[in-house]
Amino acid sequence: MLLDPLQSRAQFGHALRHHYAILAVNADSHAAVTDVLEAAREAQAPVIIETSLWQLEGRAYGAGDAVLGLARYLAELAVLANGTRYRGVPVIYHTDHIRGPKTVAILTAALQGVEVRLSVGTGLVRASTVSLDASSLTDDENVALVCRLAEIAAAAGAPATIEMEANVDEGPTPPERTRRLIAPVEARHPGVVWLWAPGLGTRHGLGDGYPDFRVDRIGENVNLVRELTGRAVGLALHGSSGLDAASLSAAARAGVVKVNWSSESLLLRSGAARAYYEERAPQFDPKHPRWKETVMDNGVQSFIAARYVPRVAERMKLLGSGGQGPAFLGTLWR
Ligand SMILES: [Zn+2]
Repeated sequence: MLLDPLQSRAQFGHALRHHYAILAVNADSHAAVTDVLEAAREAQAPVIIETSLWQLEGRAYGAGDAVLGLARYLAELAVLANGTRYRGVPVIYHTDHIRGPKTVAILTAALQGVEVRLSVGTGLVRASTVSLDASSLTDDENVALVCRLAEIAAAAGAPATIEMEANVDEGPTPPERTRRLIAPVEARHPGVVWLWAPGLGTRHGLGDGYPDFRVDRIGENVNLVRELTGRAVGLALHGSSGLDAASLSAAARAGVVKVNWSSESLLLRSGAARAYYEERAPQFDPKHPRWKETVMDNGVQSFIAARYVPRVAERMKLLGSGGQGPAFLGTLWR
C-alpha cells in the first residue's frame, strides 16, 4: 500500500515508538523496485523506496527528463504497491538528494502529485515524503528552500512531509547547527519536518567502518528536535553501507527510523550481474539451445533477484522492521 504524506508520518511515529528502522532503498530500475517490494513482502516489513536525481533522469524512468521520471516512478509504485500482491506492505516513496537547477520543479511535481488511472479510479498520486540535497547549500539557503517547499505544498492544498538534512558527509552535526536549521523552519511552517538527517559520523559511499559513529548522538538529536518542534521526530541515517551490523541495529533501537541504502545495494546487484555474464558466457552463443532465455532482460534480472532479495530482507530484519508491516497497517485500519 502506497502511503500518503500523512500516513507516512504515522509510519515514522510507529517505528520510533517500537524502536525499529525502515530500510530506504535507492532503486534504479523497474526490476530493482520489484525486488525491493518482494523483500519487504517476505520480511513483512514496511519499506521506503527512494529516488535521487540520477534514477529520475536514468534510462528506466525519465531518460533525461526528471519530472517525467518522477511521474513514471509514481505511476509504477501506485499500480504495484496498491495491487493485490503488495497491498499488505506499507510503501513510502521518497525523493532523496534532489539538487541543481531543477530541484524546485521536481519537488513541486512530487508534492502536487500526478494523475494516475488505477482499477479503483483515477487519482492524484503524490510522493509520500520529500527531501533535497543540502551538500552545496548554506544553512540559510537550506532553510529557505525547505520553507519554499512547504509553501508550494500549502498552495496546492497538499500535506508536506519533509526530511531535512545537514550536510551529513561533514561529520557529526553540532547542536547549534541543528537549532539553526530546524528552528526557523518550525517557526515559519510548523509541522512539516518529520525526519531529521544530521551528520552522525558516517559518509556516503562504501565506507570501511566508521570509528566516529556513536549511537548516543542519535538520542541527543531526537531529544533536541523534540525540544525545537514539540513532537517526536525520528532520524534518517545516510551513508549506512559501510556501517557494521551491530551499529545499525543499535541505531534503529535508539531513534533512527529511516536507513538509506544505496552503495551496498548497487554492489550486490552489479556483482550478481557480473557473475551472470561470467557464469553463463557459453550461452551467449546464438547457436546455444538456451541462448534466447539467457539474453532476455529477464534472464539477468531473475538471476540478480535470486541473490539480491534475500539480502534485502535480511537487512530489513536487522533493523527490527520484520513483521512490522502488518502491525503498522493494523493501527491505520483500526
Ligand atoms: Zn544520502
